[in-house]
Amino acid sequence: MSHCRYCGSSSHGSGCSYSPTGKHIHIADSSECIYCGSSSYGSCSYSPTGKHKHGHGNDKCAYCGSTSYGSGCSYSPTGKHEH
Ligand SMILES: [Zn+2]
Ligand SMILES: [Zn+2]
Ligand SMILES: [Zn+2]
Repeated sequence: MSHCRYCGSSSHGSGCSYSPTGKHIHIADSSECIYCGSSSYGSCSYSPTGKHKHGHGNDKCAYCGSTSYGSGCSYSPTGKHEH
């Protein structure tokens, strides 16, 4: 189970007393979104960019889970895969 990097809670979404955005942001590996804990990619209700962002690991893009580098990322705000 991952936890919030600001307060250590296992909750997701709003209600974080220490986060600058008021939302919990988790320390997570590539299996889950740092904002909501979901294992999927794409639209995220808690993310500031509107997209899930996973933790790093396993050489996967944080936004789409692809192992590619460079442009062509459907979910990254820059259009580039981010590892
Ligand atoms: Zn928190
Ligand atoms: Zn998410
Ligand atoms: Zn990507």
